[in-house]
This record gives sequence, structure tokens and C-alpha cells, in this order.
Amino acid sequence: MQIKNSALSLVIDAINQKELEELRLQFLGRSGKLTLAIKEIVKVPIEKRPEVGQLANEVKRAIEEAIEQKISNFKFQISNQKKESIDKTTPGIKPKIGHPHPMTLALYDVVEIFKKIGFQTADGPEIETDYYNFEILNIPKDHPARDAQQTLYIDTRDSKTNPGEIILRTHGSNMQGRIMKKIDHPVRAIYPGKVFRYEQVDASHGFEFWQLEGLAVDKNLTMTNLLGTMSYALKEFFGLDTQVKFVCHNFPFVEPGAEAYMSCTVCKGKGCSFCKQLGWVEILGCGMIHRNVLKAVGYDPQKVSGFAWGMGLSRMIILRYQMDDLRLLTNPDLRILEQF
Ligand SMILES: [Zn+2]
Repeated sequence: MQIKNSALSLVIDAINQKELEELRLQFLGRSGKLTLAIKEIVKVPIEKRPEVGQLANEVKRAIEEAIEQKISNFKFQISNQKKESIDKTTPGIKPKIGHPHPMTLALYDVVEIFKKIGFQTADGPEIETDYYNFEILNIPKDHPARDAQQTLYIDTRDSKTNPGEIILRTHGSNMQGRIMKKIDHPVRAIYPGKVFRYEQVDASHGFEFWQLEGLAVDKNLTMTNLLGTMSYALKEFFGLDTQVKFVCHNFPFVEPGAEAYMSCTVCKGKGCSFCKQLGWVEILGCGMIHRNVLKAVGYDPQKVSGFAWGMGLSRMIILRYQMDDLRLLTNPDLRILEQF
């Protein structure tokens, strides 16, 4: 028992595998303490030999097991140390963090610009009825203005809806009727969103693009309010040195109507290929809301007046960043998007 206790306590204190091997020799080797003790068994009286022999075997097994256990503990520690051998001072790999798309950035900007002068932001359906897209805006079924709006129709053959009644909205103006029917004047709202046309896609045309439309209706609103609001918005978006001019234009839902041009952002008005050497680029259509539209939504044109406009939001972004192709805005290429 003495041999067992001293062997076990030495095994517990061993600090490495080499010491354990030495202990194994010291106790269990050919001249080891236990081996020598076992040899002494012959001196024990014969009747006690089996008992002493069994005890000696138990001691031997206990020492062997203790040594094996300790060795496997060392191995486990070593493998753990290897796992932990990471240089914690090495700089980490930075995860890629996304950022808003240039379209979203522009959207935030225009919403903020119009919020400053009291305009609320509204959202509406992209799949629209003929009524809100055309009829209510003084564009009846036989109006020639419909030809210019290459409309995409929804197939309604399996429904009760008449053919041609459900379309993809061709302009954001579908929201004019929806807002004015719902809210009594005074009202000021913008409604940015996607619109759809059956267009051949090229550098300056898309079948799907963004518009920023808006309206204001109140007592005594005049063309001056409209021109001032448009000039303010364009200067806020493109910079205070932006020049704006208005030219008469006919739209069925306004009277009088106008188109606004702004000084080219690429050449600063000197003339370049982007602006076809004019120094000006067309940026929006606008006008005083037609009395027929006011009547259709239940307003009294004798008492209130209003103005409405539609800006090409996609075009504004192209001009702001001086891109040369509208399709870049819908291109998922990170080399382009990471520049914003
Ligand atoms: Zn230019």
C-alpha cells in the first residue's frame, strides 16, 4: 500500500509525459519498486500468497491506470493549446456593410425638400384603373393624349372587368384623383413612385422608371406659386446656382401648362453632347390643375385652384450624378453601386 500511495501521489504531481515515463520505470520497470516487491512474495507464507499476489496486481493496475489517465490529460491539454494558438492581435476581416441605393438617397432628399415647405408624402397603387390614370384627369377614351402614353394593359379575360380597364400606371398623376377625392382642400402632397410605359429600352428610355409628382390645392393659388415651388425644389436638389426656365406646353389635365428646363449639370449651360448643345435639359411638366379635374374630384373651381407637376426622378438622379445611361440605375453591378 505504501508503494501505491507514493506512486499515485508522484503521478498526480508529474508535470509532463517524460516524468510519467520515468515513474513507470521506477515502479513497474524490471527493477521497479513494485516489480521487486512482487518478487519478494515467495518469502510470504504459502497460505497468504494468493491474497498478497492479488493485492500486488491491484496496485500494479491502479498505478498503470493513473499513469494512462494522466497521459491522456496531457494530450488533451496540448490539443487545446493548439486550438487556442490564434494571434488575437491580427486585424479582423471587415464584413461588407450595405448602403442606400442612389435612387433611395435621392428619394430621401426630395421628400425632405418638400417636407420643409409643408408637403406630405403619399404612396399609391402601381396597378391602376383606366378611370384614375386617364378619365378623371380629363383624358377621355378618345383623347389623342393617350397615344403618347404607350400603356401596358393587364390581361383581365378571366375576370368580370372590361378589357382595357386595368393597366400599369403610365404616370404618378393617378394619385391626383385618389388624394383629392379623399382629402378636402387645402392639400399639399407629393407622391414619388414607379411608372410603366411600353417603351423600347435604351440609354435614355426605360419601360419602368421613377417619377416625382405632386400637387397643391388651396384658395388663391396661382401660376406664380407653381413656378416658385418648382424653382425652389430644383435649386435645393441640384444646387443654388441652377438656372430654371419655363416654356408653355399643353397637357390635358392642366390649364395653363408648362415644361421646365434647367441648366445642364454637365456643361453648366455652355452646351455639350448630353444637352444636345442647348445648355438646357427638360426636367418636368407642370401646370394649374384643369377645372374639369377639380370638378371630377368634387372641388369647386370657383372657390379653389391648384397646381400639379411631374418630374422624372430617374432623370434627376442621372443629371445629379452626370451618368450617361438610365439603365445604370437598375444595374446590380457593385462596381457602380459602391461609388455612391
Ligand atoms: Zn450640357
